[in-house]
Amino acid sequence: MALPSGLATSFPAESVPADTAAASDPDTLIMVENGAGAGPFVLLCDHASNRVADAYQPFGFAADRLGLHIAWDPGALGVARLLSGRLDAPLFWPDISRLVIDCNRPLDAASLIVVESEGRAVPANVGLSGTERARRIERVHAPYHDAIDACLTQRHASGLATILIAIHSFTPVYLGKARPWHVGIVFDEDARMANALIKGLAADPGFMVGVNEPYSPADLVYYSVSRHARTHRLPAAMIEIRNNEIGDEAGQKIWADRLAEILLAATPGLLGAQQAVVRSLQVE
Ligand SMILES: [Zn+2]
Repeated sequence: MALPSGLATSFPAESVPADTAAASDPDTLIMVENGAGAGPFVLLCDHASNRVADAYQPFGFAADRLGLHIAWDPGALGVARLLSGRLDAPLFWPDISRLVIDCNRPLDAASLIVVESEGRAVPANVGLSGTERARRIERVHAPYHDAIDACLTQRHASGLATILIAIHSFTPVYLGKARPWHVGIVFDEDARMANALIKGLAADPGFMVGVNEPYSPADLVYYSVSRHARTHRLPAAMIEIRNNEIGDEAGQKIWADRLAEILLAATPGLLGAQQAVVRSLQVE
């Protein structure tokens, strides 16, 4: 794919993050796809999976809970994978349900390991010991974020500019109330990427685009993006797609195509700004 000149630096071979998507080991929880992707985007899909690995089966996560959107973001991984291909972007996702531990929450948040979600009890997490909480952080949350951080650090060292994008989906009806937005863009005070997404999506009059809806950083949903984008000073945004839009492969493809076009169109302007920031930091 075409990149702004001077940005298409490859990883040194020894530092390429190992792809894990093809791994057959059921204990592999942190997934990296296209880890050596040299496009300008890095993708996160924090709620990609509703799997409960064998080690967590004894806690008794109920099958009827794991099928619900409270366990994962249906359709999000399909869109993220297609985008990873279109954009030549590394993609990171934990292959474990957010009901076990939510990688998109700060460690001190009550919603890190929920005992209820959207009015539904999650008894598997009631009375969890401090040891077990620490174990889940150590085995899932920490290595997920460490892997992302390592990739971003390597890209920076290689002179490869990065825009960080998280892909999520939301339920059409929440606590009995229908949500009108087809897609929502979540962002903080750095609105560079978000503005381009909102403008691009709103160009289609058929779409209702949520601006920090149905969630905003105040809901703690911006944890992963904020943590890594701030550390590495990256343009970033979180994309929330209503899950009935991406319930099948056809819908996922439509959304991946639509988003890829907008993201790529925004890239030259965003990376130009990022390079200017880097230069000013070097001058200081
Ligand atoms: Zn999500």
